[in-house]
Amino acid sequence: MSRTPFIAGNWKMYKTGPEAVETARILTQLCSNVQEIDVMIAPTFLSLPLVAASLEGSKVKIGAQNLYFEKQGAFTGEVSADMIKAAGAEYVIIGHSERRQYFGETNALVCKKIKAAIEVGLKPILCIGESENQRNKEKTFLTLDKQVSDGLKGFGLDELKDLVVAYEPVWAIGTGKTATVDQVKKVHQYLRSLLEKLFSKDFADQTRIVYGGSVKPENVKELMGIEDVDGALVGGASLDANIFINIINYD
Ligand code: PGA
Repeated sequence: MSRTPFIAGNWKMYKTGPEAVETARILTQLCSNVQEIDVMIAPTFLSLPLVAASLEGSKVKIGAQNLYFEKQGAFTGEVSADMIKAAGAEYVIIGHSERRQYFGETNALVCKKIKAAIEVGLKPILCIGESENQRNKEKTFLTLDKQVSDGLKGFGLDELKDLVVAYEPVWAIGTGKTATVDQVKKVHQYLRSLLEKLFSKDFADQTRIVYGGSVKPENVKELMGIEDVDGALVGGASLDANIFINIINYD
């Protein structure tokens, strides 16, 4: 089963609107010859419609970094799936460890957000990952199992056809510490078999499982060479288009 590699840039709370548009413009030019790879960038909500407009006709896809699960209403400061879709996004990152860590997002909330995304046709990127403490206590697989099982609870196979799973060990995000090939390999294998157990073999075979956590031009080739690694979710190294392109052109 061949899965199209997915290389995504999470711009977090960086870049004003004009800065985001400028980086997207450079990236689009650099990506003009890229083939058979899905490239995505996720700017802030404020930059989303601006960047979406500037990417029209380009190979680079766009996503949001979060959403709120309610359709609309008195939820000051929140942004709904409909609004994100209308702004031109195709994907949405859900359950990033920074949201879990600093904004108290639980697996149950993540599940509601995935549902809201699917309902409007946004493709969800479910982020999961163990903390350093959980790894040291040998609770990595237990943690991931719960994040996947609870995050995807109650969904039918057809609803999850565009799902991307991003394995991002919390201790590797923004720290410069990348997980070793052996660690990544074991986890991705585990996740694929978990998807098979929870859903089906076909579903597990077709779903992209990407790695995130200090991915950079120097280590991307090795990571992409690991069986069951179908792409990368990149933070810091995606902010500069001239660096990010070297991750996209990993081969
Ligand atoms: P990093 O971030 O590449 O800066 O470690 C990855 C992420 O948070 O998605």
